[in-house]
Amino acid sequence: MRIAESAMQRLVEGLHHFQSEIFGSQRALFERLALGQRPETMFITCADSRIDPNLLTQTAPGELFIMRNAGNFVPPYNPNSGEAATIEFAVAVIGVRDIVVCGHSHCGAVQAILDPPSPEKFPALTNWLSNAESTRRILRDKYPEADPRRLLNVAVQENVLMQLENLRTHPVVASGLAQGKLNLHGWVYKFETGEVFGYDPQTRQFSALTLHRDVSGAATPARSV
Ligand SMILES: [Zn+2]
Repeated sequence: MRIAESAMQRLVEGLHHFQSEIFGSQRALFERLALGQRPETMFITCADSRIDPNLLTQTAPGELFIMRNAGNFVPPYNPNSGEAATIEFAVAVIGVRDIVVCGHSHCGAVQAILDPPSPEKFPALTNWLSNAESTRRILRDKYPEADPRRLLNVAVQENVLMQLENLRTHPVVASGLAQGKLNLHGWVYKFETGEVFGYDPQTRQFSALTLHRDVSGAATPARSV
């Protein structure tokens, strides 16, 4: 099949490069993946093209169960939503132990919470952004004097925290947390510097993620929510 557009041509060239240069060196991994998946982490992030969860966390195919949408929103539990089904599958079928909600700098969806688009032009986006109404209200009430356009960084953080709250409304998450089988983590990725900030419920602040090492030398994440 002949592909005319240059962007698509680039993708197909990439496919050929993957098949001829990359796949062979990792054939055993891909064949093993055909037998099933056992990722231990669900990674919820924005659809933004500037985020690559596997690159960021240096993980391989099969290690992250990824859910993406505009704004990394987790709507409160609604059994008719795709997000609820995906979370239910991740926790109850796959048995992930950790769920990371990862927001990011310069997020267009979070910017749209602060500066909403026209409902006539963007009815679906307007409806989707209603998932962030609590975030918008928190920002408005906590920072009443601030110029909304200057609030983006704090809005990204508040948005992550709100999604962690929403996750708890999902029955499989509530049950996993109650049994101590599941941990929730709030991250913000600043892609222009490569930094990742994690929420610390003790200090109620986001700070650079570090690793604790126990006596065996095994590294564990510093904090969970
Ligand atoms: Zn985004």
